[in-house]
Amino acid sequence: MLNVYPIAATAENWVHDAVSGKVRTALEALNNGAAAPGWADNMHADLADRAALETRYNAFRKVAEGLSDRQRTKVLRALEDQNNIPAVFEGVAACPRIAAIPVKIRKPTADLFTAAFDALKSFKVRDRQYEAIFEGLPGKCCPFCGIEPFEAPGLAREDMDHYLPRSLYPFAGANLRNLAPMGGKCNRAYKQAVDVICDGTGQRRRCFDPYGQNRAEVSLLASRPFEGTGDGPFPLPAWQVDLLGDAESVATWDQVFQIRRRYEGKVTAHFREWMEHFAVWCGGQVGLVTTQQDVVAALDRYLDFVLQRMHDDGAHLKRAMFEMLRRQCEESDISARLTSWICALVRSQSQLAA
Ligand SMILES: [Zn+2]
Repeated sequence: MLNVYPIAATAENWVHDAVSGKVRTALEALNNGAAAPGWADNMHADLADRAALETRYNAFRKVAEGLSDRQRTKVLRALEDQNNIPAVFEGVAACPRIAAIPVKIRKPTADLFTAAFDALKSFKVRDRQYEAIFEGLPGKCCPFCGIEPFEAPGLAREDMDHYLPRSLYPFAGANLRNLAPMGGKCNRAYKQAVDVICDGTGQRRRCFDPYGQNRAEVSLLASRPFEGTGDGPFPLPAWQVDLLGDAESVATWDQVFQIRRRYEGKVTAHFREWMEHFAVWCGGQVGLVTTQQDVVAALDRYLDFVLQRMHDDGAHLKRAMFEMLRRQCEESDISARLTSWICALVRSQSQLAA
């Protein structure tokens, strides 16, 4: 991912703490030969009278009472391991899926933690988490792709992704540490219920932590101008999208969100528009360019004073594309051809504007 969220946005995790704490206490009590506590016993005051949670807890408790100690220990293990965040994102710590717990307690578990997740919305915990995230988010767009704009707090809500899918890891279903605002395309069209910590063959893998420190960058420097598909006045480069950062986390990110494919689509779709924008700007602000040095200097100015610090809707790709063109103008074996193509483009746009 391109940016990460502040860990402070996960501080209000009391719903998860209360529900998972109650489940833990119940399972431990039963394993000690004691009765599992009632829902309202020692419960957070705001949750004690939540009928939806109490009903689902009672259903969970009833099934738990009929399990053996060994089975309950498995449930306890899944509860702890699925919430062992961020360790599970490192790809090594054990993280049993829902299939590791007895069949008859799977649905009560999913129902209970779904009710806990729903409570986050009604207590406006989700909204406060989003406000904390949005305030400092560069470019106000989805950090999983960098090409989906986020709406301001109070407008239509962005999706809330269960980073560890709740269909596989229900015990983390209301844990803010596992909940990340995400653009709708990333969430529903690409990630869906893909397991970020296991590949398709069941092998564990490392992934980015949405509230961690690591992030990725994008380079288009190895793309090759004029060698892409199509011709006409705006011949496409053959794109090479390089994703830089921790290799295993980057590979997971790319597989889950199909990043390279989407970026190639984005730069292909916008190439002509971005080049025309540059040409119009150059004609107005720099003037006509006629030499390689002119073009490189104009691209430097464009990068420094137009594309600087931009993070919104695909700006990182636009910047990467112009960095590639600048490099190729200066150093590559096609610099002469590329330079004269850009000079002609600036000239034709200036004539159109005149
Ligand atoms: Zn996205």
